[in-house]
Amino acid sequence: MEEICRICLEASVTGLGFERGLLYWIDPVAKTLTGKCAFGMSGSGLTEVNFRKRVIPLDSGDILAQVARTARPVNVTAPGTEPEYNPEFLRETGSKAFCLVPILGSEKVYGIVAVDNRRSGKPITAEHMENLSIFCNTTGLALQNAELIENILESQARYRTTINGTADAIAGLNEDFRVTIWNKSAERLFGVKAGDMLGNPLLPLFPPEEARLLRAELDRAGFVRDFAVRGRQAGTGAETNLSVTCTPIEREVQGREWSVVVRDMTAQTRLQAQLIRSEKLSAVGQLISGIAHELNNPLAAVVGYAELLARSEKPPESLKADLAYIMTNARRCRGIVSTLLNFVRQPQAHKTACRINDVIEDTLDLMRYKIEKTENIALVKELAAALPPVFIDPQQLGQVFVNCLSNACDAVAARTGSGEITITSSFADGKVRATLRDNGCGIDRRHQDSLFQPFFTTKPEGKGTGLGLVISRRIIEECGGALTLLFSGPETGTAFGIELPPAEEAYAPQCAPAPGRVTGKKVLIIDDEEDLLPVMYRMIKGDGNAAETAAPREGLARLAAGDYDLVVSDMEMGALKGRDIYEAAMKLPSPPGFLLITGDVLNPALLEWIEQNNLTCIPKPFGMDEFSGAVRKLLAVPRKREGGGKRSRRGGGGR
Ligand code: ADP
Repeated sequence: MEEICRICLEASVTGLGFERGLLYWIDPVAKTLTGKCAFGMSGSGLTEVNFRKRVIPLDSGDILAQVARTARPVNVTAPGTEPEYNPEFLRETGSKAFCLVPILGSEKVYGIVAVDNRRSGKPITAEHMENLSIFCNTTGLALQNAELIENILESQARYRTTINGTADAIAGLNEDFRVTIWNKSAERLFGVKAGDMLGNPLLPLFPPEEARLLRAELDRAGFVRDFAVRGRQAGTGAETNLSVTCTPIEREVQGREWSVVVRDMTAQTRLQAQLIRSEKLSAVGQLISGIAHELNNPLAAVVGYAELLARSEKPPESLKADLAYIMTNARRCRGIVSTLLNFVRQPQAHKTACRINDVIEDTLDLMRYKIEKTENIALVKELAAALPPVFIDPQQLGQVFVNCLSNACDAVAARTGSGEITITSSFADGKVRATLRDNGCGIDRRHQDSLFQPFFTTKPEGKGTGLGLVISRRIIEECGGALTLLFSGPETGTAFGIELPPAEEAYAPQCAPAPGRVTGKKVLIIDDEEDLLPVMYRMIKGDGNAAETAAPREGLARLAAGDYDLVVSDMEMGALKGRDIYEAAMKLPSPPGFLLITGDVLNPALLEWIEQNNLTCIPKPFGMDEFSGAVRKLLAVPRKREGGGKRSRRGGGGR
């Protein structure tokens, strides 16, 4: 537009026979006229630089403002001293007579051309004025076109920036579904540059079946909105979830076109699936913990009675084998319950120096039936002798083996032929190592990087949670070790390796001396489980102590009346809780020791309370050794005779 103004002025002056000229520009926003360009002014005192500084408000009385407002040309023959002719400006330019002609577009005045014949003083005729007006009107149209083009270019730039700046892939398609617009996100999503895409059809970028469905829906409905389509990630080829919206644009001249927006929903879909899975998981978790809780009480009775019988003076020979059988299986049930519980919540780790081979053997005992009998998989064990112990919670290490073995079983089941799982242990490079190898289906190369990501699973809905390897790795790493994929492929099967540092000398497993027997003490046992009371009673009596059993309410009454050395109480007993018993006991002048037993091992509030009060707590079902060990330890602590302290340490040594 600047260029057009300059050409217009020069052509007006030279072409129409004037001597010099000025062009004023109208700024409709600032509502002013400003000097824009000058031609032939060199002899006068006005330079173009100074001229460009001239600003005349459009609502002023200046003759220029009047021309701008009325859009009518003016021929000024004697400016004289009339106030509408700026005297200073007249002096500066030395003009005696001049004419002002507006530059008219179809809807507005763009500016004003002022011309004169200062040197020759030649008068400006009506014909000159008319010619100048015609020329200025043509210029006005040229300016209008230029303005339109500038607007179009500007809006194109704006729309390009917007389209390229959006996270969604945007494409424009012509009638034949060939690409006419391809933004940066489309380049990224489909991995094809705009230069290679323009003019080519869009649909082949989708898997054929998806493209067919999309096309069919477009033909049927004439548009699609948030149409779910599977895609492939550019580069990796990983499956993606796309949402496609395709809207027709009806054009009078070029016919129908399409605007397409493709949104990558992969992350969102995964997140939603994770949420659903974790909700399911927590529902399953609650179910499992409920079942485990219910099982713990009867199981505690089975274990307890079986142990009592086995330890009785003279168990009949014929019963010995049966009893051993009951105990082994009851312990196995206990193991299963605690394995279930470990899956539900991340239990507090009880790290201790333990032998990896023992944990492997225990795990295999738990899983042998499933592996060998149910799945018909050969189990090969290559365990090195005399390995140094490792410092880890054996329950948690067992959980790692259970996870890896279950995965191996699934992998073997997923292929035909005879299955085999090999588990090894060794000591090399200063680390205790175990490997789990299977001859199963192997892990797809594309999945190998995602194995340890939470919720990554290739198993069908309801079978896999995608948590096994994550939890396992966390358990191993928390002990300074590593769990890694050693190799995997359809030919080789899969091998995972576990390495753990050997336990420090100080942690080497030593046979902790069993707490010595303490006799002649008085113990009150409170539980609402009638089956369990006699078991505990007999265990305590067997150690040479006086024991009394009571249901909760009765127990509370007896506690106040009797002088007990130790109170053993269940936690969950209906309205009255173990907590109430504890608090009542601690208020006594000489508080007894306190042993809490509970089947509710998952309750975080309970665990916190136990921790805060430093209580000894044993989870149901417990073995005889565990129970009498805890009882002996607490009875060995002398009672405070002065009493009154609510926070007695006598329950100390909590777990
Ligand atoms: P989940 O078993 O619930 O799927 P994991 O975290 O234990 O969760 O395993 C994640 C995925 O790793 C499995 O879904 C499976 O695809 C793969 N995987 C793990 N171990 C093996 C194996 N031994 N053979 C083949 N694939 C395996």
